[in-house]
Amino acid sequence: MHELSIALSMVEMAAEEAARRGAQVSAIHLKLGKFAGVVKDALLFSYDVACQGTTLEGSRLIIEEMPVVVYCPTCQAETMPVSIQRLCCCVCDTPTSQIVTGKELEVVALELEGEIEV
Ligand SMILES: [Zn+2]
Repeated sequence: MHELSIALSMVEMAAEEAARRGAQVSAIHLKLGKFAGVVKDALLFSYDVACQGTTLEGSRLIIEEMPVVVYCPTCQAETMPVSIQRLCCCVCDTPTSQIVTGKELEVVALELEGEIEV
């Protein structure tokens, strides 16, 4: 499963970071675009699986969903597509493939507990 490999690498990265700071991860904040090709519920489920037996067990994955915004060459502006399946400007219906946001899959913050101040 695609989501599981993403979750595993995220947990691994967070565990390393926490170990380096001598802290426990309590939550991971993730930005997830609707166009990232990742199913939110599947990712949340995979996260729990990935955390089992690691120092992240019991931590939370907090997902901020990012809307899809495209650039329309006709309007010369950022606009919303008609739908995720049909990337056309919702104002003038010009097809566009220039995605401005919506493909994000990035960890934006780690919440740590018991962090040792350096
Ligand atoms: Zn347009």
